[in-house]
Formats: sequence, C-alpha cells, structure tokens
Amino acid sequence: MQVDETLIRSVVEQVISRIGGNGAALASPVGTGYQGRFGLFTDVDQAVAAANEAFDRLSRMTLDDRRRIIGHIRRIAIEQRVELGTMEMEETKVGRLDHKIDKLQVAGERSPGVEFLRSEVFSGDHGLTVIERGPFGVIGAITPVTHSLPTITCNAINMIASGNTLVINPHPSGRRVAAEGVRRFNEAIYRDLGIDNLICLIAEPTLESANQIFKHRDIHLLCVTGGPGVARAAMQQAKRAVVAGPGNPPVVVDETADLDRAARSIIAGAAFDNNLLCIGEKQVFVVEQVFDAMMDAMQRAGAARLCSSEVDAMTKAGIATVGEGADRHDVPAKELLGKDAKVLAQAIGKKVPDTCELLYGETDESNPFVPVEQMMPFVPFVRARDVDDAIEKAHRSEHGFRHTAVIHSHDVVNMTKMGRRMDTTLFVKNGPSVAGLGLGGEGYASFSIATPTGEGVTTPLTFTRERRCTMVDSLRILGK
Ligand code: NAD
Repeated sequence: MQVDETLIRSVVEQVISRIGGNGAALASPVGTGYQGRFGLFTDVDQAVAAANEAFDRLSRMTLDDRRRIIGHIRRIAIEQRVELGTMEMEETKVGRLDHKIDKLQVAGERSPGVEFLRSEVFSGDHGLTVIERGPFGVIGAITPVTHSLPTITCNAINMIASGNTLVINPHPSGRRVAAEGVRRFNEAIYRDLGIDNLICLIAEPTLESANQIFKHRDIHLLCVTGGPGVARAAMQQAKRAVVAGPGNPPVVVDETADLDRAARSIIAGAAFDNNLLCIGEKQVFVVEQVFDAMMDAMQRAGAARLCSSEVDAMTKAGIATVGEGADRHDVPAKELLGKDAKVLAQAIGKKVPDTCELLYGETDESNPFVPVEQMMPFVPFVRARDVDDAIEKAHRSEHGFRHTAVIHSHDVVNMTKMGRRMDTTLFVKNGPSVAGLGLGGEGYASFSIATPTGEGVTTPLTFTRERRCTMVDSLRILGK
C-alpha cells in the first residue's frame, strides 16, 4: 500500500512537539480551564480534572449530541485509517500494515454506540418502575501495544455513548499514535460541539501514571486491556475494574470437519496482524484420523510447513525464558513477536514466498509454543487420539483464561462437548476467530473482551450503572 511517509512523520513530530518530548505540558491552552488541550496531558491529576470537567458538560448534553460526538470518532478512524494505521505500524513495529488499517475501520464501523442503550420497565398494580443505565463518570483505561489506537477508538465510542469520559494510559510503545488519534478526535468534537477533553490521554505513560489512575479518587471505574501482569494488577485494586485479559485460543479439528475450510479459517485468524489478537488461533489439536490430511490442507491454503528440525529451530528462536526460581517461565521472543512469517522463516534459515502469511508444523503438547501466547505467525499442530483427547488438550492449553476457543466440525455433539468444557467467552465454530468479533460472523466488535471479570465483548452497557426510578401507584395507564 502506498502512503505518504513524509506526511506521517511530520504529523507524528507535530504531536510530540505539541506535548513536549521531555514531558512538558502544552504551552498555551486555548479558552478557559483545560479547553483547547485536545485531551493531551502529562500530569494525571490535570487529566482527571479535565475529564471530570468534560463529564459535567457532557451530562448536560443530549443523546443526539453523544451520537454526533461518536460520529466524529467513527469518521476519523475510518477516513484517516491509512495514515493513522501507518503511524501505528511505524511506531509499534509489530503486526501488519494492512491489518492495522483494517482494525481502525472495524473499530470505527462496528463498535456499538448510543443505539445500544436500553431501559427496562416493570409495570404493575403499584405503578411503574423504570430501570435506566447511567454513566459512571470518568473511566481510567489502560490500552495495549498490540492495538493502541483501535482499542482507544472502541473504548471511546462505548464509554462516551453511555455518557462517560476517559483518561487513558496507553502502552509506552504505542503512545504517539494514541496521542495523535486522541488529539484528532477531541479537536473535531471541540470544533463541532464546543466540548473538549472527553478523551484524555497521558502522553508520557509509565507504570507510575497507571498506578495513579488505578488509585485516583476521581476515577470511578477502570477498563484494562492487556496481558497477565496488568490484569492481575487491575484486579487487586479497591475500585471496580473491567478487565480484558490475555488469551491463548486453541483450535480443535475433528474427523467430520471440512479441512480446506478449516485451513483457510486458521490462516485468516492466526495470520491476522501476525497473530497479535488475543482471540487469534494459537495452537491446533487435530484428531489422528485426519491429521495428515489437515497438514496437507494447510499447505494447499498457502501456509508453509516446517519439518521437525525447523520446528526445533523455530522454538529456539521464537521462545525465550525469563524470571528466576518459581517465577521462571517461557515468553515469546521480543525480536520475533508480531513479525511477518517471512521474517520468522529467515530467522531459521528458511525461505518462504512473500505471499506466505503463516508457518506451521507438528509438535507435541509439551512444546512451549502450545502453552505460550506466542503472538507470532507460527502455529503448532498437535495430534490427538480422538475428539475427547483433542478437547482435553485444548482445555489444558488455554490455562483457564476462558477467553476464546475454536472448533472445526460438523458434529453438534462434539461442538457442544467442547463449548461446555472450554467455558470460554468466545466460541467460534467453522470460521476464523475474528468471526467472533463480527468479522465474517454476526455481531458487533470491540478490542476489549472482558474475560476474567466476565463482561464479555464490551459495549456501552458495560460502562453503565443501573439506576431505578419508581412511581408508586400511578402512571400505569392500563387500568385495573
Ligand atoms: P501488556 O500487558 O504488556 O501491556 C498492556 C498495558 O498494560 C500497557 O499499557 C502497559 O503499559 C500496561 N501495564 C503492564 N503491566 C502493568 C502493571 N503492572 N501495572 C499497570 N499497567 C501495566 O500487554 P501488550 O503486550 O500491550 O498486549 C498484549 C496482551 O494483551 C496479550 O496478552 C493479549 O492477549 C492481551 N489483550 C487482551 C485483549 C482482550 O480483549 N482480552 C485485547 C488485546 C490484548
């Protein structure tokens, strides 16, 4: 894809100079209070104060105003996706440019907005009770490097739809694109509706600023999207947290599956953004009866098969061990995380065509690529005796995250067995994992899938407080 790199660099530099590379605050805010900051802060207290001010103003605006606000976020994510997606790719250096661009489009088009708000009514002999969904106030959001601006886009649409404002601590390695996106969103909203700082962002984020957000008394709810460390940290806070934690999604292929369709689906899901998605296919368990045929189907669909010595080399190159003593564990090697299949192949001295999106190979269950959330386009395939064995292995490999699982089968009994055993938030049958977020499947999208705390794929309703309004003995107009 052709993009104007000079333009992108100049925009990134403008953002950095605007927020000050050394952490200095904006030089000249326009208007009163924090108006004119367009959401960019280096100080958590100021960001929270600005977001609270914005919340008070938003609370006096109409639902139609919220629709208009969200419309600007959607429009910018969609219209400017090539420029912003390229910035994200250049800054984070993980994943694939085409999918960075697609993710912004998906976030802009498919994140649920104001239309998702619902009220409930109880009408009876004692009158009428209405249960409505109100905002929490200011939400503290932590976002990952794997989808920096796409997560912010989904979070902002969901949270503002239900009347909240946000303070974001982005991943340090995706902070520049986060700042540029947030600036553009706020500026467009401010120019149209005169309200600024609905989305505030810490432009120089650190673990300390994340902790300040966790503990801040004027932040009313947390929404954390990331790996095991941050998920644990969020769940230890005194304040309620919506936690979108890590996944390690297994795939089961049984003897009834359409193997070519399964192969195409696994490539589409696991190669998407070089397997950075928390829902992406990470390991595959195939029943013995069709194992060899499935390996051939993967090759027909365009994936490159590694032989046993190449799998060994890939394991050495792709997996690193960190920590000491009881904390010693395997992690994806930084140099290969999110890189193209071609780069992985080069690392083990193999040549694959430029068009190759995914590498795969046979391993046993104990290979570290099975338990580790590798986030790179190599997927291990493990033989299973039968579907029960495959489901048990899949269950072990998922670590009880209850995030995402996939089956390729035409046997509803097998599908049901796996669905029950895995107990995951997303369970996809006969398609790529991304179908579970509405890409090629039905439903809406969000890049925050709340797993340990149970809210699921987030929507505006996730970020609401229930409020009950009771009229005693009147307003039921149906008569006795
Ligand atoms: P990460 O955990 O390294 O970082 C995520 C965010 O948390 C970053 O902003 C980081 O700065 C912050 N952070 C990390 N440790 C922290 C701590 N102790 N206290 C406060 N903040 C902390 O993850 P990543 O590499 O950016 O993203 C990939 C991970 O996120 C994968 O494990 C993936 O499965 C998960 N993820 C989950 C979802 C979901 O919807 N469930 C979506 C995207 C990514």
